Amino acid sequence: MSQIDFSITIAHLYPELLNIYGDLGNISAIKNRCLWRGINVNVVEIKSGFRINPDEFDLYFIGGGQDKQQIEASIELLKNKERLHKAMESDAVFLGICGGYQLLGHYYQPKNADRLDGIGLLNAYTVAGNKRFIGNITGKCPYIDNSTITGFENHSGLTFLKGDTKPLMKVVKGYGNNGKDKTEGARYKNVFGTYLHGSLLPKNPKFCDYLISLALKRKYKCEIPLSELNDEIEEKAHNFCIKHK
Ligand code: GLN
Repeated sequence: MSQIDFSITIAHLYPELLNIYGDLGNISAIKNRCLWRGINVNVVEIKSGFRINPDEFDLYFIGGGQDKQQIEASIELLKNKERLHKAMESDAVFLGICGGYQLLGHYYQPKNADRLDGIGLLNAYTVAGNKRFIGNITGKCPYIDNSTITGFENHSGLTFLKGDTKPLMKVVKGYGNNGKDKTEGARYKNVFGTYLHGSLLPKNPKFCDYLISLALKRKYKCEIPLSELNDEIEEKAHNFCIKHK
């Protein structure tokens, strides 16, 4: 990669609001898997009140959080709704985890509280259920040759997908979007949502590299091959999570 200084710029959306169950580790995983390959990474924390410029960012990340933190995050996201739709239409990569995932859809209806509007990048909606879905979850993801993706879920929200928004994966073990239709997560264009915390990307290197490849392809208008890394530790963590509840 020495002949060109490849780089990506990441917008970390509202880390002061949505960042539970180790979700910050997703930024570290993307950053390190780029730096280990000589790809420069710039991470910009988008705080409440920031006006997002969609021309500046290749990848957007938003973590999970409790209903209370989602209220402020919903307000902030809606202020940037048009610009984030422009980013999606330009094939920017998004990854939303749990509460952040829910707000990438049309709305999240908590139990006994006002509905939180999402920004509708995903044709999906979420309503709070009566049971918390907690535990390690594993599924097969068609975007990485049906390889497994595994992580930790902890949500009461039941998410339902519509239209062109497709699941991120088919549930093999765990609850997933709603505990009924065996789907987990969502994808539309390069927008991805998932309930998997833990954090997700350090123990799912194939999916992490897939997101990096999408961001590079969008920016440089061609496939950028990623050099192989020694993923022995990542695979150990992946397999441990698959085997344990
Ligand atoms: N508050 C939402 C729910 O319980 C999201 C929780 C989370 O981000 N872990 O479904």
